Amino acid sequence: MLDTRPLLLQTDFPAINRTVLETLQVNLGYKCNLSCTHCHVNAGPTRIEQMDRQTVDLVLEYIHKHPIKTLDLTGGAPEINVNFKYLVQEARSTGMEVIDRCNLTILEEPGYEDIAVFLAGQGVTVTASLPCYMEQNVEKQRGKNVYWESISALKRLNALGYGSDQDKKLNLVFNPEGLNLPPAQSGLEEDYRRELEADHGIVFNRLFTITNMPISRFGGMLLAKGLYQEYMTILRDGFCKENLDNVMCRNLMSIDYLGYTYDCDFNQMLKMSLFVNGKSKTHLSEILEMDLTGNPIAVGEHCFGCTAGQGSSCGGALEN
Ligand code: SF4
Ligand code: SF4
Repeated sequence: MLDTRPLLLQTDFPAINRTVLETLQVNLGYKCNLSCTHCHVNAGPTRIEQMDRQTVDLVLEYIHKHPIKTLDLTGGAPEINVNFKYLVQEARSTGMEVIDRCNLTILEEPGYEDIAVFLAGQGVTVTASLPCYMEQNVEKQRGKNVYWESISALKRLNALGYGSDQDKKLNLVFNPEGLNLPPAQSGLEEDYRRELEADHGIVFNRLFTITNMPISRFGGMLLAKGLYQEYMTILRDGFCKENLDNVMCRNLMSIDYLGYTYDCDFNQMLKMSLFVNGKSKTHLSEILEMDLTGNPIAVGEHCFGCTAGQGSSCGGALEN
């Protein structure tokens, strides 16, 4: 796979600094039952990297030392990690919000049939990828049968109260196809709501639109097709200064499966470590007591993906 990393490190993206840490985004491993074309993690069924119990306990120790509001679990498919339930239960017992970034189809896989009931029992927020409400577009990005498995999983989640009960939030995630920025989030949310309700009786809370990042699998595809410069021009031309105050790295820290720390999940994929005392790699165990407020954020050309147009983050478009 071609790598955009060398092209992204030199940048004139504005310098930005961290504010108060609110969200810990933990990548539990790169193994996934899918291999989507837009995946910025290069996740798939053959990846073997998984966070071990010792590192999970370190994450919990960090949570107990800092007033974190949200634990955001991602992967790969985070549910595949054998420590997933343990981490969720321990984190929820502190009262913090826990988000499961779920690809939906994992809930239908043999061996994972109990996960939906578990999530509902724990009051975990499910943020689920569904790149379109139309079958053809979903299967183009995510693979064969993914649409109907996703619909089946959404129906199961709805039957458990997701999308209607106050403590069971179900959010959907849209990724654009090709070289486009996402359309306006509010209008697309209305379309999703109307179509999913009419066709399948499915309800959900919010739709998040997320810009594709020019890194990993999507970045490799851009290079292979000679589209990298064109895409970067779209991101740079779409720069919106007001989004700088709200980019997610301001109040989020990303942790990889080995316990190393980054300003965001994208930087994790680019091996751009959290910048602490000039070190090129910072482990969570080294900053257990540290207040990161004011710390400079490691930026690159990919950061224009967060500030283009209406802005983009793991929580969708940025509100100005
Ligand atoms: S985008 Fe999500 S569901 Fe698709 S391969 Fe990557 S981690 Fe798995
Ligand atoms: S990619 Fe986005 S979230 Fe990550 S450091 Fe750049 S601006 Fe921040």
